[in-house]
Amino acid sequence: MKKAYRFETHFHTKESSPCGCVPAAESVRKYYESGYDGIVITDHFSAGVLGSEGGTSWQTAMDRFLKGYWAAKNEGEKLGLTILLGAEFRFPGNYNDFLVYGLSEDFLRGWEWLYEASLQSFFPIADKLGFAVVQAHPFRAECYRGNPAYLHGIEVFYGNPRHNSKNMLAKEWAQKYGLLESAGSDFHKMEDLAGASVLLGKRPRTSLEFAHLLRERAYRLETRRKL
Ligand SMILES: [Zn+2]
Ligand SMILES: [Zn+2]
Repeated sequence: MKKAYRFETHFHTKESSPCGCVPAAESVRKYYESGYDGIVITDHFSAGVLGSEGGTSWQTAMDRFLKGYWAAKNEGEKLGLTILLGAEFRFPGNYNDFLVYGLSEDFLRGWEWLYEASLQSFFPIADKLGFAVVQAHPFRAECYRGNPAYLHGIEVFYGNPRHNSKNMLAKEWAQKYGLLESAGSDFHKMEDLAGASVLLGKRPRTSLEFAHLLRERAYRLETRRKL
C-alpha cells in the first residue's frame, strides 16, 4: 500500500497559546513517537491573546506568536518531523475560530493587525495567495457558522475529548455547502494527542503545499476517537 503521511492540523504550544499546557519540544517528540509525519502549528492569533494596536508593537506580538512554532520546528528538524506554520485566527465581534494554512513568517510580519480585520476582508487575500481557511469546531456552543462564501472548509472530525463539537452536524454542513472536510485534535494537553488527523498522499514541505493539498482534497481523514 502507498505510504500515507499523517499530519496534525490543529495544535497549540505552551510558548505561544496561554491555554497550551505542553512545551512544543515535548509534544513534538510525542507526536513523532505516535507515528506522525508532520504537525501544523496553529497557535491562537487574536487580539485577546496577542494584544491590540496601541498596546504593543506588531513585531513584538509576532515574536510571541512565532515562539512556539520555532520551538516546535527546532525539535522537529532533529527528528525528521515536518513542522509547518499555521494559525488559529479569531476576528473581533464573536468567538468563531478559523484555522489558516499556507502562512509564512514574512506574510505575518508584513500584515500588521491582520486579526483586527474580518473574515470577509481576509478571505479574498488568503484565497488568492493559495492559503486554506478552515473554520474550527463550527458547531461548538459559543460559535456560529461563518459565511461559506468566505471559507474553504470546516473541521468535521474534531478529536478533542473536552468538547462536544457535534461532528455529524459539521459533516452535513460541509456537504451542503461543498466545503472541504478537515480533522484535527486541537492539541492543548497530552490527553489530546493524536485525536484526529489528515492522511496525505504526498509529504508537504511548506505550509503553502499543505494548503494546496487540502484545497485539492488530496487526503483522507482519520480519528482515534468516537465521533
Ligand atoms: Zn486554546
Ligand atoms: Zn485551537
